[in-house]
Amino acid sequence: AKQAGRNTFRFFTAQMNVEVVARLELETALRRAVEHREFVLHYQPKVQVDSGRVCGLEALVRWERPGHGLVLPGEFIQALEDTGLIVRVGRWIVATACKQIRAWMDSPVGPRQVSINVSSRQFGEGDLEGDVIRALELNGVPPDLLELELTETSLLANTELTIACLRRLKKLGVRVSIDDFGTGYSSLAYLRRFPIDKLKIDKGFIDDVTSNPDDASIVLAIVRMARSLKLETVAEGVETTAQLAFLRRHGCDQMQGYLFSKPLAVPEVEALMLEGRTL
Ligand code: C2E
Ligand code: CA
Ligand code: CA
Ligand code: CA
Repeated sequence: AKQAGRNTFRFFTAQMNVEVVARLELETALRRAVEHREFVLHYQPKVQVDSGRVCGLEALVRWERPGHGLVLPGEFIQALEDTGLIVRVGRWIVATACKQIRAWMDSPVGPRQVSINVSSRQFGEGDLEGDVIRALELNGVPPDLLELELTETSLLANTELTIACLRRLKKLGVRVSIDDFGTGYSSLAYLRRFPIDKLKIDKGFIDDVTSNPDDASIVLAIVRMARSLKLETVAEGVETTAQLAFLRRHGCDQMQGYLFSKPLAVPEVEALMLEGRTL
């Protein structure tokens, strides 16, 4: 038994080394990816629940990693956060999204609201405010076409700095939403303290909303509370018509999910908008 125990220990050590090496390789590859500009933005439409029309898009980063194809953020966002590279990539995302909004303004697609995901490190170490203001000015983009999505966790990091920065951006007209609402440390107090326009209801509550009464109650409570605070609601990860019917019945404002469209590369999402596809 002792022998087996020792072998097990050795096995785990080797396993841990494999993980450490893999992590270092990932970080090296990400540094190169930043230098070589291997990131792209895909866009997922958001749809107005009552009219069925596209009312905006969320920009979602992807990594065109040589030899690996298109890599999703689940594989690399945490590493970008841990290494601090997210600050540089985040700056690029702000610039690229604003350039895209401008391109659509000048095309038959027309002006569209675009949201980007923001990491708390962009407030602390980066100059998110400066980046946003410069990108809007450089491209002549009206601030109300840009929306920032922040998670509850990122709102709770470096709070005072973040609040002050968000207030100034909001004064300028930039929109702010809380992402994955309900999954973080949910103190309702910050709903009053933070300058917020919108709550994005996490996919985790939407998945079983039509079969699990607890999830249904939570979604209802969020929608009601948002309405009384004059906040908009967006349901994330809507995949079925039954989920949509529930959202419609209970007055959720917008939906996003595979039922309407996955995140798409620019040419595909443009085609979808030009087609005028509705829900
Ligand atoms: P998120 O901001 O909550 O984004 C929603 C995720 O759900 C996206 O995954 C999207 O593709 C996926 N999704 C949307 N509708 C459906 C659906 O109907 N069914 C299912 N199964 N999934 C759906 P994605 O693109 O893999 O992004 C994952 C996460 O990575 C994002 O979660 C966000 O937290 C982070 N992320 C993505 N892009 C960026 C970025 O540019 N900057 C930062 N800081 N984080 C990002
Ligand atoms: Ca998001
Ligand atoms: Ca989300
Ligand atoms: Ca999420």
